[in-house]
Amino acid sequence: MVFYKYNKMKGYFLAIHHTMPFKKNSSVHNPLPTTPRKMQVVVVQGLTKNARAFLHRRFRLITFISALYILRLSLVGCTCGSGWTAAERDIIGNPIPGTAAISNTAVTGEATPSATTAAPRILRVLTVDNPEDSLVLRMSCSDLTPEMLASPEYTALAGLMVATVTDPSEDGVGIAGPQVGISRRIVAVQRFDKPGEPFEVYPNIRIIATRGDLCPGPEGCLSVPGRRGNVLRSRDIDIRYTLAPAASAAGTPLALRDTVERIQGFTAVIFQHECDHLDGVLYIDKVIPGSLQNRN
Ligand SMILES: [Zn+2]
Repeated sequence: MVFYKYNKMKGYFLAIHHTMPFKKNSSVHNPLPTTPRKMQVVVVQGLTKNARAFLHRRFRLITFISALYILRLSLVGCTCGSGWTAAERDIIGNPIPGTAAISNTAVTGEATPSATTAAPRILRVLTVDNPEDSLVLRMSCSDLTPEMLASPEYTALAGLMVATVTDPSEDGVGIAGPQVGISRRIVAVQRFDKPGEPFEVYPNIRIIATRGDLCPGPEGCLSVPGRRGNVLRSRDIDIRYTLAPAASAAGTPLALRDTVERIQGFTAVIFQHECDHLDGVLYIDKVIPGSLQNRN
């Protein structure tokens, strides 16, 4: 009986012979009938016939697995182009009817869409009452890639998020990606600190600084229906997000840049609430004990 074991460190096969030893450097088909029943280990320099066959089979297996992987990549590319998952594309591509026309909308950056004034289609808002929704609401979100930001799915999502938060059925002042089932770092916030108090959309947003004392203030959440409570928040923060100026004529890559902005007042509170959503945190996790109550 002969076994072969490839020695990675030494780079050749070891032939382990249990009954008959091999002459060193000989073919495995030419054993010497000496000292039978004595296990010896013989180094077979180079590749034996069996080793070549073994490697040939292994090569065919690797080739087959590689072909399957390439096929999978091409299929994924067909269904999930630009980095969006199939589930995300399904959510964005199948909005539900809203209850009223959209007003007072805008989005960040000149390249982002004005399509938010289109028909009142909205996205379903996930709530903590639903166990499956709750799992999504507790997930941490990932960034949007430049390809995703340049995709029509992003344009549609930005418009749908604004449409959803402004729909009379929700009537909120901010909404985050997870609340519509999209686990990406994207929020829509009403800018009470700007003329006209427009809604704007911020991709890849993070709070990078807070200043001053924390102040208590009432908060509610579209994903925690019928409740409100007081939370301590800063009124002076810095946010960082990806801005996509209008350098993108058809087919031209977006000129993305990181942008830092100082936000103050109640708008800063909204940003903190929405950014918490992107880390799977809800305001009820931070509510001042005893302040949570039913909304009138
Ligand atoms: Zn919320």
